[in-house]
Amino acid sequence: MVRSGLPAGPVGFLTGVGSLYIHIPFCRARCRYCSFSSFAGLESLHQRYIGAVCREIARHAGGNRIDTLFLGGGTPTVLDREHLAAIMRRCRDAFEFDQAAEISLEANPDTVRADDLNVLRKQGFNRISLGIQSFSDDELKTLGRIHDSRRARQAVADARAAGFDNLSIDLMYGLPGQTAASWRATLERALSSEPEHLSAYQLSIEEGTEFAERAGRGELLLPDEEVIAEMDEITSSLTRGAGLRHYEISNYARPGRACRHNLVYWNNEPYLGFGAGAVSYQEGVRRSRIKDPQIYCYTVEQGREPVAASERLEPIDSFKETVIMGLRLVDGVSEQRLRQRYGLGLAEVYGKTLDSLRDKGLLLFDDGHLKLSGRGRSLANLVMAELV
Ligand code: SF4
Repeated sequence: MVRSGLPAGPVGFLTGVGSLYIHIPFCRARCRYCSFSSFAGLESLHQRYIGAVCREIARHAGGNRIDTLFLGGGTPTVLDREHLAAIMRRCRDAFEFDQAAEISLEANPDTVRADDLNVLRKQGFNRISLGIQSFSDDELKTLGRIHDSRRARQAVADARAAGFDNLSIDLMYGLPGQTAASWRATLERALSSEPEHLSAYQLSIEEGTEFAERAGRGELLLPDEEVIAEMDEITSSLTRGAGLRHYEISNYARPGRACRHNLVYWNNEPYLGFGAGAVSYQEGVRRSRIKDPQIYCYTVEQGREPVAASERLEPIDSFKETVIMGLRLVDGVSEQRLRQRYGLGLAEVYGKTLDSLRDKGLLLFDDGHLKLSGRGRSLANLVMAELV
C-alpha cells in the first residue's frame, strides 16, 4: 500500500505521495532486441488479465493519494480502450488522486488511432510516451518493430490533436547499420514535433534476445565507439538547441516536464506495482510479482498475493542503491538528503573508493551533490560497479 507521510523507519522515505505502476505484459509481436517481460499471442488472456489486475488494485485500496500513475509494458495500448478504461476506473475508485497527478500511458504508434487517443485523453491519461525508436523504415524493420515511420508521424499528430500536451518520444541509437547521419535525421524528425520529453536509449544487446543470438554468430554490425560518441554529441547539441534539458543519462525534458514517475525510481522512493512482473518498493521491502501472466491471473483469482520474490533491503544496501540510481540524474545525489534519510554520509560508506573515482575524474562534487562527470557518464556502468 502506498501511504502518505510514511514514518522514518530504518530505511526512511523522502516522499509522502504515492506512485503506482501497472504492467501490461502483452505485445503484438516481439521486437528482436527486447528482453522486457512481455508476451505476444496471448490476446485470449486480455480480459482475464484485466480482471486480475483490477482485483489486485481493489485489494490494495486505501484512500492513498496518488501523484503518478504509469501504465507500461509491454504495450498497454494492445488492450481495448474499454480495458484501459476499466483499469483507470478501478484505480480512481481505489485511490485518491492528486489533482495534478501525472497519468502516463506507453503506446506503440501502430496500436493507437485518432479516436482511441481522444478517448484515452478523456479518460484522464495526460501524458503519452510513444515508443517510436526510429524514423527510418529500414531501422524499424531491423528492430522488428510493428510500425513504420509514417505511422509514427501520424501517431504524434493524433496525440497532439487529442490534446496530449505532455508528449514523450522514445528513440534508440547505436542500431545495427545505423550511421550518425541517420541518427541525426531521426532526432531532427522527433524534435520537429516539439515533444515535451525525449528518451534516447543506446541499444544494448541483452541475453536471450534474437539480437544476442545474431551478435553471437557475428551477424550484427553495430556502430563503433567513435560513431556512438558522435551520436552522443548530436543528441546533446540537437536537444539543447530544441530547449530540452538533459536530466537523466538517457532522458531530456522541457522545464517542468521531467517524468515525475521515473524520478520516483531514480530517487529510490517507494512505489507500488500491479500486474505480472511488476515490482513494488515499500517500507524497505522490494517485491516482484509473478512474471507468467497465466500463473499471475490464477494466483490472484485464488485470492493469494501474486508475489514471486520479496527482499528486505538493509539500510546500507538502500543507501547504495539511492546513490547508484541518483547518479543517473544529471543533478546527482544530494549528500544532505542522504544524511537526512540514512544518517550516513558518502565518505563514511565509500571511503577511498570515492576518492579514487574523483581522482580519476569520473565523479565530482558540485553544490553538495555527487555527480558523474562527462567522462563518468560515458563509463557509467564501470563507476556504478565500484559503488555497489
Ligand atoms: S513493443 Fe516494447 S515491450 Fe513489446 S516487444 Fe517491442 S520492445 Fe519489447
